[in-house]
Amino acid sequence: TDTLSSVTQILTKLHKDCATPVPVLRHVADSMANDMRAGLAVDGSSDLKMILSYVDALPTGNEKGLFYALDLGGTNFRVLRVQLGGTDQRVIATEAEQVSIPQELMFGTSEELFDFIASGLAKFAEKENGEFQLSQGRNRELGFTFSFPVKQTSIDSGVLIKWTKGFAVSGTAGRDVVACLNEAMKRQGLEMQVSALVNDTVGTLAGAKYWDNDVMIAVILGTGTNACYVERTDAIPKLPGQISKSGTTIINTEWGAFSTGLPLTEFDRGMDAASINPGEQIFEKTISGMYLGEIVRRVVLEMAETGSLFGSSIPEKLQTPFSLRTPHICAMQQDTTTNLDAVGSILFNEAGIESNMGARKMVLEVCDTIAKRGGRLAGAGIVGILQKMEDDMEGLIFGKRTVVAMDGGLYENYPQYRTYLQDAVTDLLGPALSENIVIEHSKDGSGIGAALLAAANSKYK
Ligand code: ADP
Repeated sequence: TDTLSSVTQILTKLHKDCATPVPVLRHVADSMANDMRAGLAVDGSSDLKMILSYVDALPTGNEKGLFYALDLGGTNFRVLRVQLGGTDQRVIATEAEQVSIPQELMFGTSEELFDFIASGLAKFAEKENGEFQLSQGRNRELGFTFSFPVKQTSIDSGVLIKWTKGFAVSGTAGRDVVACLNEAMKRQGLEMQVSALVNDTVGTLAGAKYWDNDVMIAVILGTGTNACYVERTDAIPKLPGQISKSGTTIINTEWGAFSTGLPLTEFDRGMDAASINPGEQIFEKTISGMYLGEIVRRVVLEMAETGSLFGSSIPEKLQTPFSLRTPHICAMQQDTTTNLDAVGSILFNEAGIESNMGARKMVLEVCDTIAKRGGRLAGAGIVGILQKMEDDMEGLIFGKRTVVAMDGGLYENYPQYRTYLQDAVTDLLGPALSENIVIEHSKDGSGIGAALLAAANSKYK
């Protein structure tokens, strides 16, 4: 029938527009490497900001004492304390809590957001017990993980460039976020100071490298996405004067802003146009958790409107942006029942849709297409970074074991996405080289990583 054929046409076009054969992936990887070089040469000359992290001393294992970490990067913030025992004892004890951020604070003022965070941290600090011992004469120190683009000026200061991932807090852009937090902690009567400001990718890299010295790259795939890596200081033309003792430093790529050569669809363009940051964060909008569900919703809505996929009525919920979220499309893809019962109930509960078997299968096809494109493009991005590193350090990346530390709710929870990512890396590198490249989940490394960086950059050293 007509309606069936137009649904099929939409799917066919979607497959075509989202296709990621090796030449497309290769172009993405090459472009990523080129954009990295441009961003390292001159600020502002590339989609990739290639931000200096001012982290050039990574944790060694010798760190000792009590340190706190605060992680603000998305829908939640996390607080953590860790008692470090040095080379032999390593991590003696840790304790962590998570607090979700009320929606309205994402659109409020800077003071409101930071006061809420500092008050959560103060409540957590009050519960510190005997396992945790502050060294005499010291104030509590904090590693502050802040996963938004920041122009760092030292290990413990940095100015917010802009909010991303749906945050639109007024009065923070252009300000030092460490000062914002220190002032809020003071207002809350909390005696603690920020010793290290780190991006979550940088925290993940530090945390993972504490246990495995072959870690060279960290990638976050959660609500948003980002990547960082260990770079040689002599490969950074824009580096202002000072040279790190180690000869290496961590570069925060801010790769979410990458945009060259991506296979995009009308649905991506529509979502981008309706977003709070049109034209920005295009890689992030194609591969990260905040957006995959919404892209699927837009495709399914089009199938319902022009192809009557679910009959004549279009439920209001399906027309509501972000009603279908990435965890839902992930859950649908895990459905192994013969009638696709889980797909049916998710469609009903989240989008108000009554679906038959044919429609459920069609929706699954859409989910798979979008997850596959996302995972494979993320894999191509990783290969781009590896390639750039290998070009400058011949044999030191592909010629030995190199670990890519992965974290974030999307990577952690979406098995199909993870498989597509790994497949793309293997497709691009070939079986021999890809054997040396280990892509590994580093669970919640970033919290510990930030605390380790606070220790490595302690004010009391
Ligand atoms: P954040 O990035 O918000 O700091 P996380 O790293 O925990 O925090 O990532 C949360 C994101 O991960 C969610 O916004 C969602 O997009 C994605 N996610 C969470 N659970 C799942 C799931 N079961 N399947 C797929 N994606 C998920």
